Amino acid sequence: MTSETITTHPGSFIDGAPHENRGAPIALVNPATGQVFAEVPGATAADVDTAVSCAQRAFADWSALGTAQRGEILGRAVAHAEEHVDELVRLLVREQGKTIRDARIEIPKALDTLTHYVGLSKALRGAHTPMLAPGVDGYVLRRPLGVVGAIVPWNFPTTLLANKLAPALVAGNAVVAKPAGTTPLTTLRLAELLGEGGLPAGLFNVVSGPGASVGEAMVTHPGIRKIAFTGSTPVGEHIAALAAKGTKRVTLELGGSDPMIICDDADVTAAASAAAMGRYYNCGQACLAIKRVYVFDSVADEVIEAITGKAKRLKVGPGDAEGVQLGPLHTARQRDEVADQVERTLALGGELTAGGSAPDDPELADGFFYLPTVVVDPPAGCPMETEEVFGPALPIWRVRDFDEAIERANASPFGLGSSVWTRSLARARQAAERIEAGYTWINSRTKVYDELPFGGWKSSGYGKEHGEEAFDYYTESKSVVVAGRE
Ligand code: NAD
Repeated sequence: MTSETITTHPGSFIDGAPHENRGAPIALVNPATGQVFAEVPGATAADVDTAVSCAQRAFADWSALGTAQRGEILGRAVAHAEEHVDELVRLLVREQGKTIRDARIEIPKALDTLTHYVGLSKALRGAHTPMLAPGVDGYVLRRPLGVVGAIVPWNFPTTLLANKLAPALVAGNAVVAKPAGTTPLTTLRLAELLGEGGLPAGLFNVVSGPGASVGEAMVTHPGIRKIAFTGSTPVGEHIAALAAKGTKRVTLELGGSDPMIICDDADVTAAASAAAMGRYYNCGQACLAIKRVYVFDSVADEVIEAITGKAKRLKVGPGDAEGVQLGPLHTARQRDEVADQVERTLALGGELTAGGSAPDDPELADGFFYLPTVVVDPPAGCPMETEEVFGPALPIWRVRDFDEAIERANASPFGLGSSVWTRSLARARQAAERIEAGYTWINSRTKVYDELPFGGWKSSGYGKEHGEEAFDYYTESKSVVVAGRE
C-alpha cells in the first residue's frame, strides 16, 4: 500500500481567517486505509477565548441588522459555497470515511438547510395580542442570545452543524463551532467558503480539538450564552450539568435506537428495503437509523430473507472507490465497539444471518471495515436492544401482534426516531400516538425534513432543530405591553 502524504492545517478559523491553534497536534486517520493523512494542532482554552471575543464583536453589528438582511447576506455566502461542493465532498470522504454517494447527499443537504433558513428570514412573523385592556396591546419580541457554541460529532459533520448555524445566524447570533477532533477539515473549509462569499468575519468561527478540553472550555466560557450539542447521551448529560452553572441555554440532540415495526399488512418489499437503507446508510453511523426491527410473525421470514439478502449484496470498500455502497467505520474503536455488541448479543442467543465480522479481503485489512450484519431473534434485553448500535448491524425480532411491537419499541431508554409499516390507518395513527419518540415515519424511509421540528424524547435529548421551532432555541422572548391611552 502506498503511504499518504501528510498535510497540516492551522486548526481553527477565527475572525474570518485561519488561526494557528496552540495545542498538541492531532493525527487525522483515513478510515479506509488506517493511515495518517494530516496533522492538526488542537485548540486550547486561550484559542476558544479568542474565538469568543471575536464573535462577541461581530455580534454587535450583525444583531442590529434586519432579519431579512441577515438572510440575504447568508444566502450569497451559501451560493458561493455551492460552487465548491465537489471539494467539500472529497474532504468529507477522506476524513470521515463515508462513501462518495453518502457525502454527495450530506454536503448539499447541509447547504440546503442553510438556504431553508435564508428563506424563512423573510417569512418570520410574531405574536400580537390587541386590547389586553382598553388602550393596551401586547406583543412578543424576540432577541438573539449573543454567542452560541455549536458542538457536533463526526458522523455528519456538516449537516449537524448547519442545523445549528442556520437558525442561529438568521436569528442574529454569532457562532463558535467545534467539530469532532477527528473531522475538522470539511467544517474549516466550509467556514472559509462562507467567509469568501461575504459572511462577515467573526460570525462563524471554528475551533477544533478534543471534546474534553476544547468542548468543555466552550461549555464553561462565560461569553457563550448557549450550547447546541449533538453527540452521545453521556457527554450530553455531562454538558447539561456543566452548563447549569451560569444558567447557560442548552439543546441536546443525543443517541437513539430507532425501532421499525413491520405489520402483517405492510408492503413487505418496501419495508425491508427501507430497513436495509435505514440501517446501512453512512455505515450505520447515524443517530436516526433503523436500529431495531419488530416484524409480525406471519411475514417475518419474508422480511428476514429480504434484509439478509440486501446486507449480503452491499459492496463494501473504500468510500472513494467506484460502486462502493458501504465504507469503513470512522475509527477502529467504533468498529470494535459494534463487533463487541454483536458478539455479546450472540453469546446470549439469536441467529447470525449476515456479516458478523470484518471482511476477509486483504485489500481492506488496514481500514476499519465491518460487514453488514443481521442478527435474528436474540433474547429480549440483549445489548443490541438496550444499547445504541452505531454501525452496520441490525437485530430483527418476530412479534405476535401490534401491542407487543409497540411495547418492545418503547422498551428503550432512547426516543429519537421510529417507523411503522402498515396499510391500516388505525394502526398507523395508533403508532404515531403511542411510540415514545420525536419522529414517527409511516410507510416512509427515515428522511429528515427541514420543515419539521426534530428532536429526541427520553435519553435522546431535548430541544428542537429544524422548522420554525428552531428559532425558539436561538432567541430570548420578551413580552412587551404598550399602553397607548392618554
Ligand atoms: P460524543 O458525545 O463523544 O462527541 C460529540 C462532540 O462532543 C464531539 O465534538 C466531541 O469532541 C465533543 N465532546 C466530547 N466530550 C466533550 C465534553 N466533555 N465537553 C464538551 N464536548 C465534548 O459523540 P460521538 O461518539 O462523537 O458521536 C456519536 C453519538 O452522537 C451517537 O450517540 C449518536 O447517536 C449521536 N448523534 C445524535 C444525533 C441527533 O441529532 N440526535 C445526530 C448524530 C449523532
